[in-house]
Amino acid sequence: MFQGVFMNDNKLGELPQVDRLMSMDIIKECDAYRYEKADALRDVLSDIRKAVKSGKMDEVPDAGCIARSAAELAKKRSRRGIRKLINGTGVILHSNFGRACMSKAAADAARSAALSFSTLEYDAEKKSRGSRTALIEEQLKELTDCEASLIVNNNAAAVLLILSTVAKNGNVPVSRGELVEIGGGFRVPEIISSCKANLRAVGTTNKTRANDYKAAIGKKTKALLKVHTSNFKITGFSESVSIKELAELGNAHGIPVVYDIGSGALVDLAEYGINDEPCVRQSLKDGADIVSFSGDKLLGGPQCGIILGSKKYIQKMKDNPLYRALRVGKMTIAALTATLRVYKDPKAAKQEIPALAMLSMPQDTLRERAERLCGMISRCGAKAVVTEVKSVAGGGALPGLELLSYAVSPSCKMSAALLDERLRMLPVPIIGRIEDENLLLDVRTLFEEDFEYIASALGNVAN
Ligand SMILES: *Cc1c(COP(=O)(O)O)cnc(C)c1O
Repeated sequence: MFQGVFMNDNKLGELPQVDRLMSMDIIKECDAYRYEKADALRDVLSDIRKAVKSGKMDEVPDAGCIARSAAELAKKRSRRGIRKLINGTGVILHSNFGRACMSKAAADAARSAALSFSTLEYDAEKKSRGSRTALIEEQLKELTDCEASLIVNNNAAAVLLILSTVAKNGNVPVSRGELVEIGGGFRVPEIISSCKANLRAVGTTNKTRANDYKAAIGKKTKALLKVHTSNFKITGFSESVSIKELAELGNAHGIPVVYDIGSGALVDLAEYGINDEPCVRQSLKDGADIVSFSGDKLLGGPQCGIILGSKKYIQKMKDNPLYRALRVGKMTIAALTATLRVYKDPKAAKQEIPALAMLSMPQDTLRERAERLCGMISRCGAKAVVTEVKSVAGGGALPGLELLSYAVSPSCKMSAALLDERLRMLPVPIIGRIEDENLLLDVRTLFEEDFEYIASALGNVAN
């Protein structure tokens, strides 16, 4: 025993110094900060010391081996934080995966705004101060026929600003069927109370009529609120009040009607079986005084909340000090401008905006993609088959909608759970879903430029 400790300590004397390891090529070439490489070397050396002292390791590794482990560790640590992943779940707007992927044009615009100074609030031709959102306001007017608009950080912020501005210290009737929780803790009753307004729940869970709202209107009623039940469906006997009816009621009593439509479809998606998403333009036409929706759901742009409506109310919101706290940054403005620009050509929008392209992808294309990916996988030495699956929109949009799609299902000796784990551990994780002991990668949400990576990753993992 005594002799053992002596021998191990002696071995530890052979461990190279951090300084010497730092000058080795593999460490010098490793793409990480100097301090990160030094930390990694120290951690690797400390693990070796512990292993030797506890008797788990007999021989200390050579310097090359230590440097390689440390370089690996430093690289792995530098990948921490938000990074790319490959979405094979078939969920188009996945809240955990960052919801909508932006178009190339939107991403380029955000990148350019990030890298250089910009005309954010400057009119270069007139040499004067400019408005940061004037162009977006113009674009939204053209696309939706709205009188005025305002952009904030997300749709939750939009509802917060709207109700804080128009309904503070007043009562707000809402249908019991629309007191929803959506997307990471957006709860209608809590938002209303944080705006210092009082919720007046009307109707029942499954049926609410215009008369229920009417009965709740009193001197202190400051807004009528309608919320799109974005992430669930009531089927069977149900009834709700249309925005048209609500607008008539609001008009008769001089009370603003607020409609949180959630997703904000700017193009008609009926040909893809999507009928129950409120259309932005129609909601305004039907008489909603204020409409709000997210920028990164069906719109397919950056995270933001878009508020449209009468000039009178929008101006009040602009004057609310809360707006300054909720406004968006230059990258969002740049990306949103680029996203809205393509919507003037709905056909182009369906091609260029990934969320819309994925939703509207024809069956033939899906099948062809699945077959092509399968071929690439087999050329990498792994096996896979094409299977029919159903994809969903996700992200608090289009509940109950199931889109027929195709997936590749890799078949290899390991279990689906183990394969899934291996793919999640990759530098760019590949996330699929497991059904009946099979891992499925739905091609609807895969990008073609990732096929090569997916195929070779499956080849490596299978062998
Ligand atoms: C998604 C959603 C929200 C929350 O929007 P964020 O942009 O995530 O803040 C609010 N209301 C409805 C109806 C929604 O669908």
